[in-house]
Amino acid sequence: MGQVVILGSSNAIPDEIQENTHMLVKAGKRVILIDTASNPIMRLGKVGVHYDDLTDVILTHFHPDHVAGFPQLLMGLWLLGRRKPLDVYGFNHTIQRVKANIDLYDFKNWPDFFEVIYHEVPEQEGAVVLQDDAIRVSGSPVKHLVPTLGLRLEFLEEDKTVVYSCDTEPCDQMVRLGKDADVLIHEATGETVGHTSAAQAGGIAQRAGAKVLFLIHYSLSRQDPSILLAEAHSTFSGAVHLTRDFMTIEL
Ligand SMILES: [Zn+2]
Repeated sequence: MGQVVILGSSNAIPDEIQENTHMLVKAGKRVILIDTASNPIMRLGKVGVHYDDLTDVILTHFHPDHVAGFPQLLMGLWLLGRRKPLDVYGFNHTIQRVKANIDLYDFKNWPDFFEVIYHEVPEQEGAVVLQDDAIRVSGSPVKHLVPTLGLRLEFLEEDKTVVYSCDTEPCDQMVRLGKDADVLIHEATGETVGHTSAAQAGGIAQRAGAKVLFLIHYSLSRQDPSILLAEAHSTFSGAVHLTRDFMTIEL
């Protein structure tokens, strides 16, 4: 059965309750990590992901709260014993910067360091990121401060669709990306440049015809969760939930 495991739900400032936003997707043989906050190794271990289980990493955009843990992830997997290749996906803007960062660490000269295979996703609506018999992942550019990849995850065996906004202002491409989603995971940082409030996220969910809305990229310690839920309910007629770290969404 397909799953989305929330590994972190915080906005850019994590605390002891919430790690920066990142998540794990399980579908068939695929175990896909979306973003690499802090050091993902600890939380991957906590949810039982073995170093060889991880098949793919999708990096949504080059902001530290989403990609800073990438070198830590690679080093940790290598130290644990991984030797098989790892596939990594993102827009050119993200991949070029991540590669430059990794080159500074000179991992290619570390003994038996596994191969990292980079895939540049075309910066266009509906671009296919990866696909197999169990899952089809596509994406669209959303409206953030740097090129940012919103994701649409189609779980083929379950015939269910999960859409993740990543960081974005409300925009028409987000409505199209989220069309008829069974689950829309939308950021709720607040109404500011490059971001979305809970009320706006509800509006996007309503326009997209999403069935259920999960708010993410918010702060439990700095925002009143009941107000966030009420805001989203004011604009969306479906069910609204707050994501929490280590929550599993079953498909
Ligand atoms: Zn960002």
